[in-house]
Amino acid sequence: MAASNDITCDVCLVGGGLQSCLLALALRHAQPSLRVVIVERGDELCGNHTWCFHDHDMVAAGGLRAVLAPLIAQRWAAHDVRFDSHRRTLATGYNLISSARLRDVVMAACDATLQVLVGCHVTKVAADYVTIGERRITASLVMDNRGARDDFAGQCGYQKFVGQELECTTPHGVERPILMDATVDQRLGYRFFYVLPLSPTRLLLEDTYYSDHSVLDVATVRNEIAAYAHQHNWTIAKIEREETGILPLPWAADGPDVAIADEPGAVLRGGYRGGWFHPVTGYSFPLAWRLAVALASAPLPNWRATAAAQARRVAGQQQLALRMNWMLFQWFKPLQRHHVLARFYRLPATTIERFYALDTTAVDRLRLFVGRPPRGMSWRAFWSGAL
Ligand SMILES: Cc1cc2nc3c(=O)[nH]c(=O)nc-3n(C[C@H](O)[C@H](O)[C@H](O)COP(=O)(O)OP(=O)(O)OC[C@H]3O[C@@H](n4cnc5c(N)ncnc54)[C@H](O)[C@@H]3O)c2cc1C
Repeated sequence: MAASNDITCDVCLVGGGLQSCLLALALRHAQPSLRVVIVERGDELCGNHTWCFHDHDMVAAGGLRAVLAPLIAQRWAAHDVRFDSHRRTLATGYNLISSARLRDVVMAACDATLQVLVGCHVTKVAADYVTIGERRITASLVMDNRGARDDFAGQCGYQKFVGQELECTTPHGVERPILMDATVDQRLGYRFFYVLPLSPTRLLLEDTYYSDHSVLDVATVRNEIAAYAHQHNWTIAKIEREETGILPLPWAADGPDVAIADEPGAVLRGGYRGGWFHPVTGYSFPLAWRLAVALASAPLPNWRATAAAQARRVAGQQQLALRMNWMLFQWFKPLQRHHVLARFYRLPATTIERFYALDTTAVDRLRLFVGRPPRGMSWRAFWSGAL
């Protein structure tokens, strides 16, 4: 017998993070009559993140851009990268969504057809129902968007970072984002600072490592951030917020489920949990948004087929990215990895943007792989079964 607080809906989104929130908003726009329930175990949606993406990530998704507009807390028309060998400004747009903004927009959209349940730890996820302890939510379709996974059986490196939002005592003078300042000491693998100017006196500073292992010594990295700020004469008045990330960067992994259309009992999985992320950056916004647009544009009975079609579309792109990780982590010693990224950032800006969006063309792929290999490549690793 159904308990009095059981719920029936059309779509139940498990996990109230990036994938679920983007999809819920896309559905509000494209299919507002669908009854959607988001179930989150935390006290509120969206955790503590700053999500950034390139303009081309929106282009690759193909529609519903109006849904993203209110989420974008900041947009810059260009950004910089810095290596010992060269510096470059790329005139391609870069956007920021904060957890707080995404949470506010989703909560404001709640009504009779969009319900958010927080503080609800889902204990069982099936294709058409979930349980939260004794409570059950029955849905025409359940989507499992529970986020992080690390099931790559050691076949991965890691992008790990500590980021601090800093209020400076005086204007910092940074005009646009520095996506990679790799002119810093290259200890522990490819290392760079990520610098976002959030206001004339506020910066997000992230010290990032592409490392062989997942241990993150937060206290040491905090000191590195302080030292980087000091080196640039930025005096810190206050640390407003801190975020950390340890994102696996696999070179062997199953991508999104291409057979989901033929498996009626299987649970549709989105976001990180479903393999909808970029293997080289660990970022999931581009594919999460693309999946959200595709599903919101399809009738509910077609969602499995739509997800399978998207999965097939990205499979080849993800293979390319997995191969890049293999090269980066197997052919290059930690101290030499920056040469790979330095070479990458000599490619045309359009190729770089499409690479981040997992939307590369055949010409892009030639540009990525053909030509003189980056300095520092280990020929021994190359010849010992790497091909
Ligand atoms: C600090 C940080 C910064 C990042 N920055 C970027 C970026 O700039 N751009 C980008 O594209 N990617 C970024 N990423 C990577 C990736 O996009 C994020 O991890 C993203 O949040 C993944 O989205 P998701 O919806 O798959 O999972 P999440 O956003 O992690 O959401 C999963 C949700 O499921 C909930 N949950 C888990 N288990 C249960 C359960 N049993 N019951 C109920 N709820 C549950 C969790 O509490 C969580 O809220 C970043 C990652 C981190 C950690």
